[in-house]
Amino acid sequence: MKMPKVIRTYCPYCRRHTLHEIEKVKRRRASELKAGQRRFRRATSGYGGFPRPRYENREKPTKRLNIRFRCKECGRAHTRPTWRAKRFELVEVR
Ligand SMILES: [Zn+2]
Repeated sequence: MKMPKVIRTYCPYCRRHTLHEIEKVKRRRASELKAGQRRFRRATSGYGGFPRPRYENREKPTKRLNIRFRCKECGRAHTRPTWRAKRFELVEVR
């Protein structure tokens, strides 16, 4: 999908709508203390193996986006639950 480089959206630090720059970031390694990772460790431990079918000889067709919204006014960045997309492009608008 295509997305503008700059959008006007809610900043939780300024508590109002401001201009935000969208940054692509690399996915962080899952923390061993997060709920999802703990659940995964619990499911894979012991007898029974992997909880879902593994993808054989292929990757998933789409990847979850890793983007960050940086407020232009206070300079702080926040993230949001993201979606999946085959391709992701930032485009200049106007
Ligand atoms: Zn802000």
